[in-house]
Amino acid sequence: MVSNWRALSGLAGTGHAGAVVKADAYGIGIEPAVSALTQGGCDTFFVAHVSEGIRTRAVAPDATVYVLNGLLPGTCDAYAAHRLSPVLGSHDELLEWAGFRQGGAAVAPAALHVDTAMNRLGLWQGEGLSLARERKDTIEAAGIGLVMTHFASSEDVGDPANARQIAAFSHIVEALPGIPASIKNSSGHFLKDCPSYQVTRPGYALYGGNPTPGQPNPMKPVVGLTARIIQLRDVEAGMQVGYNGRWTAKGRRRLATICLGYADGYPRNASAPEGTAGGFALVDGVSCPFVGTVSMDLIIVDVTDAAPAACKRGAAVTLIGGSLDLEAVGAGAKTIGYEILTNLGRRYTRRYVGL
Ligand SMILES: *Cc1c(COP(=O)(O)O)cnc(C)c1O
Repeated sequence: MVSNWRALSGLAGTGHAGAVVKADAYGIGIEPAVSALTQGGCDTFFVAHVSEGIRTRAVAPDATVYVLNGLLPGTCDAYAAHRLSPVLGSHDELLEWAGFRQGGAAVAPAALHVDTAMNRLGLWQGEGLSLARERKDTIEAAGIGLVMTHFASSEDVGDPANARQIAAFSHIVEALPGIPASIKNSSGHFLKDCPSYQVTRPGYALYGGNPTPGQPNPMKPVVGLTARIIQLRDVEAGMQVGYNGRWTAKGRRRLATICLGYADGYPRNASAPEGTAGGFALVDGVSCPFVGTVSMDLIIVDVTDAAPAACKRGAAVTLIGGSLDLEAVGAGAKTIGYEILTNLGRRYTRRYVGL
């Protein structure tokens, strides 16, 4: 993970990469991720919630910690207590924060979020521009130390929305001379003609996700997942498998039941009822399809094509790793790698072998 962060920082030109560690560092664990990144030289973190900011602060006492979801009413004290930086995204948030600062509270610099596409969070670009041009007093009163926007489709290099967002944001940055800026998420690092500004905000790519879908993954894998075979059985043609008998063997098949399921965060959407492709496990490198529905604690895998020697009671099969990268796992569950990562369950035995 730290080597991925270094690689991304290298792509950030004269700026440097921060690290997005929201959602428990995308399922990896905030504390181990932030500790490793801090040791590796990262000094700027982005989380979604104050609670995540507090956990980040506990392991990174000197870092700048931005809370992306912004300022919920009445939370200024929590920000001040933990020296967290709110990412302010509306006039109301700006006013509440500026009032708190004027009351004499010692606080970390805030960020200003300008929305250039998503209609999700942030001042809409027109409002952002007028604020930047005409209300320097408000910017000053709120102690803005960073201005940012977020890409809606940076993983799709062909989407013309990217250039529109880059252009809209550049006007806002120009109107705020001297204030550092941030636009790049993971995929943003691989967009042509996108300025890096001072800070970038990679998340997914740090954890080994592919920021360039459809192209070879420039990042190193970070997460692996294995589960053990608990039982093996042979079924004959016509036999039904799993809850509600959603899969029926067409011939003699060898099935392995492995001990993980949706209670571990492996999506039930990776189920493979009759005629539908679902998830896969790698058994000694051979891709073996799930059959039937994913249960709470168990998944049934058709291991007929795998080497019999690899299909033993107690043998480990791979659910994430090798050719089964996060994108492939996401596709098998009709979702994206991000959701696979952020759902990694608490029930797994977790081993950190050098982040
Ligand atoms: C989640 C998030 C990021 C990180 O996005 P990745 O695609 O995971 O790199 C960056 N900025 C904001 C505002 C985010 O919400």
